[in-house]
Amino acid sequence: MSLSHPLLYALPLSLLLSSCSLDSVKPDTSPSDSVAITSPIAIASTKQILSTLAADDMQGRQDGTVGGKKAAQYIEREFAAAGLSKWGGLSSYQQAYEIEGPEGPIATSNVIGFIAGKSRPDELVVFSAHYDHLGVEDSAEDTGKNKIYNGANDDASGVTALIQLAKYYQQRNDNERSIVFVAFSGEEAGGFGSQAFASSIDPDQVVAMFNIEMIGTPSKWGNDSAYITGYDKSDFGAILQKNLQGSNFKFHPDPYLDKDLFYRSDNATLAAQGVPAHTISTSKMDNEPYYHTVDDEIATLDIANMNAIIKAIALSATSIVNGDSTPTRIAKQ
Ligand SMILES: [Zn+2]
Repeated sequence: MSLSHPLLYALPLSLLLSSCSLDSVKPDTSPSDSVAITSPIAIASTKQILSTLAADDMQGRQDGTVGGKKAAQYIEREFAAAGLSKWGGLSSYQQAYEIEGPEGPIATSNVIGFIAGKSRPDELVVFSAHYDHLGVEDSAEDTGKNKIYNGANDDASGVTALIQLAKYYQQRNDNERSIVFVAFSGEEAGGFGSQAFASSIDPDQVVAMFNIEMIGTPSKWGNDSAYITGYDKSDFGAILQKNLQGSNFKFHPDPYLDKDLFYRSDNATLAAQGVPAHTISTSKMDNEPYYHTVDDEIATLDIANMNAIIKAIALSATSIVNGDSTPTRIAKQ
């Protein structure tokens, strides 16, 4: 989540599955059987991915830094290991672009993976999260204290969800619509990665965008719940909730409307172009003491709840990914 409204910055650049049920997927701890799916959103892998992204050697994953590049390469390896295709005409999973920085252009890239739809390949469902964060605190004084913004919640949690969902859908191999998985960079600097991505696609082809931001702490309603920004701008939220019928998970409308969250994350660019593009989050924006501090560490997160949220997102996307429902469009800006 960025501090300001990304659309205020100038652009510097030239989503199972019929009868899907998560219960039909065997966890990787179960005795092996004929089911090929081996890692259906297991807590152990959620923890492992999150730990890798939020480790000190990623140096706060800032755009244009060694740590930022390392994070991109890690996500790229995960997408390759999952078996995702490359996006559009790209020769790798990385979509390079530049951000106009105060001291010149900063080279960075989004990381994009793709699964072609079985029967409706031209209709795109986008899952996204941003992997960039704030780097290392700039201070000449060496006090021996932690200076690395690991951003475990912001937004290593969302990228972890993205990688888990990519593996999940690739293993299911039954999506009727195409699915695009995008790990954005440039978010904290002003949403530049999502602008670069949006300029490379036809927004009219995008049926829905699930942007995932800060799902590592329980929401204000407690476990098994999250909120959706811009809830009333389309029927995306209502569709997701309908797909969760029978589960105890609940999606609420964003309760922090005064914080303008709908316009402060990577859903904003495509939403402005009419796409039902929403952010799913649990972040208590009035009470999240580690937000944008060097103390945003894994130890402060609830990984079991986070894993339940990732499963709920997968289940909630069912009718959109399999083509049975199409969210209403958002008014273009
Ligand atoms: Zn942030």
